[in-house]
Amino acid sequence: MKYVLGEEKIKGRGNTPSFKERSDGRGGSTRRLHFIFRTGFGKKGVFMKRVYLKFIYIIFFIFFSYLFSIDLEEEVSLRKFPVYSIKNVQYISLKTLLKILNTDNWAKIEDRIFIFTGDNQIKFRIDDNIVIYGGKNYEIKNPPKEIEGDILVPIDDFSKILSGFKPVVKKEYIKEEKEEKKFVIVIDPGHGGSDNGAIGNYGLKEKDVNLDVAIRLEKYLKKQLSDTSVDIFLTRREDIFISLEERVNIAKSLNADIFFSIHTNSSRFNRENATGFETFYPYYKIEENILPKSTNGEGILDELTNDETLSQIVSNLNETDVIDESRILAEIVQEKLSERLITPDRGAKRANFYVLKYTPMISVLTEIGFICNPVIEFNLKDVEVRQAIAETLGKSILEYLKKREIIK
Ligand SMILES: [Zn+2]
Repeated sequence: MKYVLGEEKIKGRGNTPSFKERSDGRGGSTRRLHFIFRTGFGKKGVFMKRVYLKFIYIIFFIFFSYLFSIDLEEEVSLRKFPVYSIKNVQYISLKTLLKILNTDNWAKIEDRIFIFTGDNQIKFRIDDNIVIYGGKNYEIKNPPKEIEGDILVPIDDFSKILSGFKPVVKKEYIKEEKEEKKFVIVIDPGHGGSDNGAIGNYGLKEKDVNLDVAIRLEKYLKKQLSDTSVDIFLTRREDIFISLEERVNIAKSLNADIFFSIHTNSSRFNRENATGFETFYPYYKIEENILPKSTNGEGILDELTNDETLSQIVSNLNETDVIDESRILAEIVQEKLSERLITPDRGAKRANFYVLKYTPMISVLTEIGFICNPVIEFNLKDVEVRQAIAETLGKSILEYLKKREIIK
């Protein structure tokens, strides 16, 4: 499977999480917990230790926070965040964790929590012992809890998982800027985990191509947009399954302005000569608080189904604008791709894919090539081709942002 992935994955870490190795054995965790309630020092010793640590902390946060990793336990004790003790296990609230991680981008989807921070995502479930961070599954001893609407995470377990975490320095902390509304782009690599998407004749999986192109696109855009108030997020950064409802909800939680989904095609009968690229935008948008269950894949629904009466369709005046803007973006994507690719331009088209229909913001879904065509499959394995496609998608987004005067 490795050959289909890009550089980052090949260079990347092995599959064994170091924390899991440590947590399998005994000890370790209780020793670390003592830090919060340290009593071994004399009063003066504690004071000096605090002054010393405070000094370290100031250096850490103001000048070098991008170089050093956080120590969750230290942060909690130094910044005097409230600690909750339940059955001798110490917890902090999710709010505290977000402050320490220096992010306010997170989403709660049913019992699942997604935290978006820099180039990373942290995911966990209430009452569940698995935490996903940096693409690895960590087994924790004490699951996160929800008590009276507050989400609590165990300090000890999270401290270990996040021991290599580097918080992102926000511009606001360097120079005081007035709070401007961020323009948020959510990039959505289609499929993932148990849902492979289309598979080529030589085994290339759509989910892997989509993710690699999405990460390259994110990297390109972050570089190009570093001095702007545009934020970029990914719905997934790893090979994991995320339902279509979750993708929509992530975009809603992040208050996204653009939802940009990346897919790779296959023709109905896997025709080997199928070729070209196409970009879809929605017919209409539907506003639902509780989203209907999705099937895997694109979940295309071209016609109104019986339970989708017209009255359910978003009545708000913005809808036509949002669809029109989606069309404009889709057309730019097609135009840019046709300048770069020799495969045929299949056009910007309307289709009511689930993620296009239920996302309230501007949304497009681009199909970058037919993986069922062995020549295209071969090309999509190539890191340079992926990079070229990612940059072209990035240039399309930049052009759209310029058109809207969001960037100069
Ligand atoms: Zn797909």
